[in-house]
Amino acid sequence: MALEQDILAAVTPTQTNIIQLANTNPLYLDYNVHINNIHIDKTKPLWQYYFLCGFKGIQEHFNLPVSTGINCMIDGAIPASSGLSSSSALVCCAGLITVIANGKVLSKMELAEICARCEHYIGTEGGGMDQSISFLAEKGMAKLIEFNPLRATNVKVPNGAVFVIANSCKEMNKAATAHFNIRVMECRIAAKVLAKAKGLEWEKLLKLGDLQQELGVDLETMLSTVEQVLHPEPYSRMEVCQCLGISQKELSNILSQNTQDVASFKLYQRAKHVYSEARRVLEFKRVCDETPANALQLLGDLMNQSHISCRDMYECSCPELDQLVDICLQSGAIASRLTGAGWGGCIVSLVPINKLDCFLVKVQEVYYKVNGQRTAKHTQALFATQPGGGAAVFHEV
Ligand code: ADP
Ligand code: MG
Repeated sequence: MALEQDILAAVTPTQTNIIQLANTNPLYLDYNVHINNIHIDKTKPLWQYYFLCGFKGIQEHFNLPVSTGINCMIDGAIPASSGLSSSSALVCCAGLITVIANGKVLSKMELAEICARCEHYIGTEGGGMDQSISFLAEKGMAKLIEFNPLRATNVKVPNGAVFVIANSCKEMNKAATAHFNIRVMECRIAAKVLAKAKGLEWEKLLKLGDLQQELGVDLETMLSTVEQVLHPEPYSRMEVCQCLGISQKELSNILSQNTQDVASFKLYQRAKHVYSEARRVLEFKRVCDETPANALQLLGDLMNQSHISCRDMYECSCPELDQLVDICLQSGAIASRLTGAGWGGCIVSLVPINKLDCFLVKVQEVYYKVNGQRTAKHTQALFATQPGGGAAVFHEV
């Protein structure tokens, strides 16, 4: 689901070929660049590069040699580097701006697909959920998002509980560190090793989901395949090369720029997390659709299992997130899990509406008030939220 927080941009197309960016937040410095001189530095993820990702994605999609210049002021209310996808909000915002400024038209689906791909220019090998929901969200509705082809199906969460976001106040920039991409690479290698063991052409295969699609089997079968083929001990580079019958050099070509030095890969744990998480997602939707009497408890169980799997199998949690999850569970939440990439940032809790006020007070006291920095740095660290709407253009000149 989309949050109610967003990134706003005030934009004027210009006759110059310059992109001129400013930001209401003084931390993000002014920036100018000629449209034919766009360079995105993967080693230094400055804010303007996220904007340029969106710009470049659209420029390339339409093959625009002389796209129009723009003057643009950005104002954002999504806590950055906190797992709420402020980066994707900015990339999507820039993509939409570029389409409108150049007098082009794209569907929300097309925009979502382009923006999911072009965030890769900054170096993070993300999927497409964040960009998809940024465009496809509808107020009051969560969405089940699926790919190949991109689809978004309405999911109405049962009445009686709300989602509450709590920020651990530990920031983690995904493009400045390798954690995020290491997991993507582990999944990529797991997909290849599993595919080879199943006698498929593994060279072009990149995703565990694509492997399942190619095998045409359900998630249960994928989970037992993981048990049969992979072992829990980490795989060394040498073992990966042996399994795939490739050289160290060929392994380097599979890995992203910032994961070249990784020495070992936990293929079993990562694949198990991915397939079990996918199963939980489908189960979550089924419970929402059928709404049995104990629906909230069932949804809560799935969310709690999800956090445990993120923590122990995908290892993308951190002590602050685990502590905050525990505090939320002790403060009346039915469930709590980290959200976004992890390693810091936010958690999301499912809280019964009749316990909401008491929950907010308790969490404030136990997690935030004991640490002045936590409240001072984030004015919006703890809030209840409803599914918000997607990207919109307010006025077109
Ligand atoms: P997130 O979990 O929020 O997506 P990322 O680490 O992927 O975290 O991206 C955070 C980066 O996005 C910030 O460091 C900043 O460069 C950019 N960003 C987020 N919000 C804004 C904003 N309002 N204005 C400018 N840049 C922003
Ligand atoms: Mg991000």
